[in-house]
Amino acid sequence: MMRIAPEALRQLVEAAEAAYPGECCGLLVGRQLPSGVIEAIRAHPSANLGKKENRFEIDPRLWVDLARALGRGPTKVVGLYHSHPDGPAQPSAVDLDSAWGEELVWLIVSVAGNPDAAAGAARTGQAIQVTAHILDHDGRQFRELPLRTTDWAPYPVRLDPDKFPDGPLEETP
Ligand SMILES: [Zn+2]
Repeated sequence: MMRIAPEALRQLVEAAEAAYPGECCGLLVGRQLPSGVIEAIRAHPSANLGKKENRFEIDPRLWVDLARALGRGPTKVVGLYHSHPDGPAQPSAVDLDSAWGEELVWLIVSVAGNPDAAAGAARTGQAIQVTAHILDHDGRQFRELPLRTTDWAPYPVRLDPDKFPDGPLEETP
């Protein structure tokens, strides 16, 4: 299971919406609890250095700076996040190709465009789902982790029930 501080979740959801139709990305700092639960305490946004559309690349300086600041822990980089504009909150084939580090959680925010935006208006996006994944089976596939906030509240992704008549897209257990 992964737990994330509500403030960190709100921050990365807002970053995902602000970056739409581009992708946002960043790193998650936290710790692994003795129970095995991974807890993300802070989100550190990165510039997206990805050179192609629908790609993300976290600034390597952010990794270095965080590693230096965190030293030997117990807090450390526990994961990374990025957004999927107009895509599902599931790792893509490209994600799997580029993934490494079986200890890192991948948080993915799916962002849907607002179909009601006036013609010519800036395209705005709304985060609709956040999921957590970790590399498994020797890095050959992702496994989804249950995701909760540290206060055990439903996570504050904004949903427009009219657009998603099948109900809120909650994390799968
Ligand atoms: Zn992706």
